[in-house]
Amino acid sequence: MRWKYNLLGVVKRPLLLRKPERLWAHYCFALMIVLCLIIISYVQNRAMVDRGLLAAEAIRSSNEQVLAAQDIIVISDGLVGADAADLTEFNKAVFRFETTYADVQTTQRSSQFFDDDLFFANHPLHLKTVWFLSAARQFAAASPDRRFGLNLHLKQVYQRSGLNDDLLAIANMTSASFKAEATRFRTKQKVMLLASGLVLLAEALFIFRPAQLSVVSSMKSMRKTTNDLRASQNKLKNMNAQLEHIVRHDPLTGLPNRRSLIEYLDSIKFDKRTDDWNLLLIGLDNFKSVNDTFGHDYGDALLIAVSHTLKRCVDYEHLVAHVGGDEFVLISNEANEYLIKRIFASLNEPFEISGRRIPINASIGHVAIGDSIRQTNDLLADAEIALQFAKNSGGKKAQAFQQHLRDDLGSMQQLQLDLIDAIRNGEIEPWFQPQVRLADGRLHGAEVLVRWRHPTRGLLTPDIFLPAAERAGLMVDLDHAVWRSAMDLARGWQDAGVWRPVISLNAAPDTISDPYLIERFLRALQLSGLEADQVVIEVLETTLINGKDDLASINIDSLAECGIALELDDFGTGYASLSKLTQLPLAGIKLDRSLVAPLPDPAADSVVRAILALAGELGLHVVAEGVEDNAQAVHLDERGCCVGQGYGFGRPMPPAAFTAWLSDNAKRMLKAAPEIARIA
Ligand code: C2E
Ligand code: CA
Ligand code: CA
Repeated sequence: MRWKYNLLGVVKRPLLLRKPERLWAHYCFALMIVLCLIIISYVQNRAMVDRGLLAAEAIRSSNEQVLAAQDIIVISDGLVGADAADLTEFNKAVFRFETTYADVQTTQRSSQFFDDDLFFANHPLHLKTVWFLSAARQFAAASPDRRFGLNLHLKQVYQRSGLNDDLLAIANMTSASFKAEATRFRTKQKVMLLASGLVLLAEALFIFRPAQLSVVSSMKSMRKTTNDLRASQNKLKNMNAQLEHIVRHDPLTGLPNRRSLIEYLDSIKFDKRTDDWNLLLIGLDNFKSVNDTFGHDYGDALLIAVSHTLKRCVDYEHLVAHVGGDEFVLISNEANEYLIKRIFASLNEPFEISGRRIPINASIGHVAIGDSIRQTNDLLADAEIALQFAKNSGGKKAQAFQQHLRDDLGSMQQLQLDLIDAIRNGEIEPWFQPQVRLADGRLHGAEVLVRWRHPTRGLLTPDIFLPAAERAGLMVDLDHAVWRSAMDLARGWQDAGVWRPVISLNAAPDTISDPYLIERFLRALQLSGLEADQVVIEVLETTLINGKDDLASINIDSLAECGIALELDDFGTGYASLSKLTQLPLAGIKLDRSLVAPLPDPAADSVVRAILALAGELGLHVVAEGVEDNAQAVHLDERGCCVGQGYGFGRPMPPAAFTAWLSDNAKRMLKAAPEIARIA
């Protein structure tokens, strides 16, 4: 504790309790002192009262003795001259005188108001009393005639001895002695009262005041602590609420997160009213490419825009949650059919983000919540499986969960694992499908189409394993594996002098966006020894993107600069605007077989003519896919289409079969015919 100095420089210790726990001991000590003082005072009071009684008794006895002596004299006066007098009264008075004298003696001895000797031995009072008594006794014993003389003698003894005065003096002395004692007693009482007061004052000053100060200061600090505590409690409450919000919401979209969703599902699990509710897991199909192409800021903005769009698709009491990167969950009791339609419709239009239009597709996996036995996590896992299937089957689809999907997913995952080994072990084969010049029926080139000779499942076509490869991110390695062996085989045919090959290689969007595309492709081309004009790369519409600054565009430009011809595959099926045709360095387009198949239907014909006219305008050459008979070939030729490809000219063939086909047909004029040998 710090010492304080007042103005006089006197050291003043703040009257605060240094050890409040000793307060009780201090109080007990002070109480004991006060109690002792009270007891002492009580004892003294009692003694004083007793002394007072004794003094009164002593005074009374002295006065009684005086009265008895006077009675003796008065009665003796009456007995003088009487012949036979009754001495009874006289003797009684003498007896009273004697008894009171004994009383005075006893009282004085026990009270010790003054010297005991006063009444004993040779003290004058004692002697005077004895003298007076003997005179009285003489008078009583004397014959009547001697009474006169003895009466005088008795009076003289009484007068001369001054017994009366002495007895009165004793009463006065007793009274004076008691008064002196009473004065001393009062002084003592005052001192004790003062001492008690001082103790009480000390108690107040050194116990209660410090205690009060301590209590006040403790209360002050307690009040402050309470206020601080309340403030930090409020702060904590706010922080908790914020934390609660953060923990349960996705920071980007502000939607409830996975944890929140699970809690919500747990809460409605046993509610019969939610039996007909559905959980829809919505995954954006090409979100990764949006991030890669436009950057993460655009990706984030797109997710926010999608979250708003999805919220508008459901009623306010239905839940929309953001459960992961590009996945959202909707919980609704609306019929799936309508809700799904509405979701697809709302996502159909490209999103406008910072002046750029970003197209986005979504797939939906949905599951009914109704089965109350099902666990929350199972529900989400089931929806996830359904979503995987929707994505694997090309995206922009909705898939309801069915039990068999779980097994199918397992086998798809196995397929993905097998595919990794297959690429390494050379189980992936390039097959070749001839492309024929429609004008003269000469072999133009061949499209390379991948096949997988699976050790246990046999020959697998792309529709079985490509979606799995795409999902597993294996497309880049797969394409390069196919390209390498196709280029090596082509070089072999060239070296054999069978044919100067031109091969069309399919490229997945991932392959075109690969930063090492040019390096890997040019190396393979160089190793094969083929010229750049002997290779065509077919890109899909989905590879086309807005703007020119992304990796895919750069790669496409680089390929074109290297003299590689680029063709836009499946033209006529997608939504890419025709203006894209002018923005990319394309050499040609491949007319999708959905446009070729209906020919010579007039409606299809007018579309084909329009496309061919446009291509002609832009200087693009056109390859028609799916030419299955000669009529289609002739029709397309008449409309100005340069090249035809399809079962009518030849099915995709494995290398050996194609080698054989080449030796028969490479130099021949080919004509599309349905009956041509079908190999695949
Ligand atoms: P695509 O590039 O449009 O290839 C043409 C598809 O049409 C081939 O199917 C081919 O067998 C089939 N086809 C050709 N002519 C006819 C016809 O007259 N009638 C009918 N009905 N079909 C015909 P395939 O080989 O099953 O390939 C399917 C798709 O897989 C290809 O479509 C292509 O997008 C993809 N693909 C194939 N090989 C590769 C590859 O090595 N890399 C990449 N990235 N994709 C490939
Ligand atoms: Ca193709
Ligand atoms: Ca195609």
